[in-house]
Amino acid sequence: MLSEFDLISRYFSRPSCYATLGVGDDCALLPPCPGMQMAISTDMLVEGRHFFPYADPEKLGHKCLAVNLSDLAAMGATPRAFTLALSLPEANPNWLAAFSEGLFAVADAHGCELIGGDTTKGPLTICITIFGEIPPGLALRRDAAQAGDDIWVSGTLGAARMALAVYRHELSIDVAMQHAAAARLHTPTPRIPLGLALRGIAHAAIDISDGLIGDLGHILDRSKLGGTLNVDALPHGDILAVLPPEMRRRFTLAGGDDYELCFTAPTTNRAAVLAAAQSAATAVTRVGTIDASPGLRLIDANGAMINLQSLALSSFDHFISS
Ligand code: ADP
Ligand code: MG
Repeated sequence: MLSEFDLISRYFSRPSCYATLGVGDDCALLPPCPGMQMAISTDMLVEGRHFFPYADPEKLGHKCLAVNLSDLAAMGATPRAFTLALSLPEANPNWLAAFSEGLFAVADAHGCELIGGDTTKGPLTICITIFGEIPPGLALRRDAAQAGDDIWVSGTLGAARMALAVYRHELSIDVAMQHAAAARLHTPTPRIPLGLALRGIAHAAIDISDGLIGDLGHILDRSKLGGTLNVDALPHGDILAVLPPEMRRRFTLAGGDDYELCFTAPTTNRAAVLAAAQSAATAVTRVGTIDASPGLRLIDANGAMINLQSLALSSFDHFISS
């Protein structure tokens, strides 16, 4: 039988590189980097709410850290360290080995060190707090969009929502497509290199976790501005090409779980944005404009207005959505 402390030392303790003191004491000790600001974020994943019961533990390890890294990416911060609070129904060695493998693979890929946490018995819940660094004044804040900015998104949108539709039997697609969509849902890629490359080039940014419309809405609210999105410009990638256009629109506009970046930048920085995207090996697409008048407007490729209500879209909200 694994004790709490066996479990921590076997699966979650590794030698520290960055931390002065890592897992094992009452607190971890981090060396503050002179002149830098800390970027700190927390995300919690609850079984049955954020992931299915009996989810693959290695993918879960990947996803729970990736969604936290995505918040650092959206701020333009460099990942440094994270803590892990785990509530586990049982100390299952196979589950723990796979979970920690998935977790540390993402941690190592981004130079982000596990420095501590808490472990308790209970319903499966994973809560990570992540710490990053950013030079003062360079954070990509939600309140920093300006009228006239271009609106951009990274990568492609909607595939994670498509995977969910297959699981819910709302949709049937061929097996190769199912796997590709499922990979987007279960093992998202945090856009850290793009976030870093956009420092000083983009004005505002957010990561798309609850759907583009809702998340862009946060930039508009915080910046006290409006926006116009060209729905036909949204990058949906090959996976969504098989969908009927109306469903494709819904999934790209309000899909959720994409973990792409939505950001704004002045039109004079178009070439700089494309160069940043190339240096980060991440595709970006210009999808709209920030306007002085409040509200979000949708247009098609011909510039014709699309009625938002007609699409029956809603952004994901834990207390409203089912
Ligand atoms: P405390 O009693 O001070 O809260 P704990 O007994 O909970 O300490 O934890 C012992 C050590 O193990 C601490 O350094 C804590 O940060 C670390 N720790 C606990 N759970 C985890 C975990 N899931 N991942 C990484 N470190 C952990
Ligand atoms: Mg504790």
